[in-house]
Amino acid sequence: MQLKMNYYLTQMVKSYQSLTRETAKHIKLIMADVDGTLNTGGDQVSPSVSDAIYQLQKSDIAVGLVSGRTDPMLQSMAMSLKIGGPLIAENGAVARLTPHGNLVDLGYSRQPALKGLEKLKACYPGRIWEREDNQERMIDLVFRADGITPEKIKRCVGDVQVLDSTYILHLMQKGIDKGKTLKRLLGQMDGATIRPDEVLVIGDSMTDLSLFKLFPESVLVPNPNIPETDREILRDAARYISDYEAGEGFSEVALHIIHART
Ligand SMILES: [Mg+2]
Repeated sequence: MQLKMNYYLTQMVKSYQSLTRETAKHIKLIMADVDGTLNTGGDQVSPSVSDAIYQLQKSDIAVGLVSGRTDPMLQSMAMSLKIGGPLIAENGAVARLTPHGNLVDLGYSRQPALKGLEKLKACYPGRIWEREDNQERMIDLVFRADGITPEKIKRCVGDVQVLDSTYILHLMQKGIDKGKTLKRLLGQMDGATIRPDEVLVIGDSMTDLSLFKLFPESVLVPNPNIPETDREILRDAARYISDYEAGEGFSEVALHIIHART
């Protein structure tokens, strides 16, 4: 029985190197998470990531960002990396079809997150730390709650979504996720219809699970900070996995796709 279980575990996710030439040729858009995928935090990416993005776009693959970061943070990153694809900020709550395009009206509200945060502060006085960028956040709110388990947080906030990116905790209206928003954007692209199987999504944490579930070509970048139970869920949902972690993991997958297309 044990052997069989192990067999299934190894079948869950394949090396990115098994992504075929045919699949590589079909890809029109790569949507990348930022923290834990393109870098390990901060505003910079390594020269190899920046070069990989340049090479992808030169090979006619658009690159977009799909992150828990704020829209202004993603816009500035897109500008410095010269990215032309969609931007999805705040874990799917805020989006633009292009970095210079208008915000898409997704119809989401900030009220559930605000109410959840009030409840949390009442449940755990003096133990909830809001991050400064909440002022810039339109829908999703971020906080730290050191020493309080995710289960306790979820019980206290009630009908509000709690997400852990391993960098920060997020509170957001239920029903919003990165995958659903990306699907909505694909339906709104004028002139250049892109099917879900023509998109490659790449991410590292539970905030990317909806991308892995809704898009067949998905890559998990290993993140050592993810709890083992979540790692299993992610490995089960993603089609491919990179060898390296954040940054280098993205670059090796990008280069494999570029080479497979030629
Ligand atoms: Mg991440």
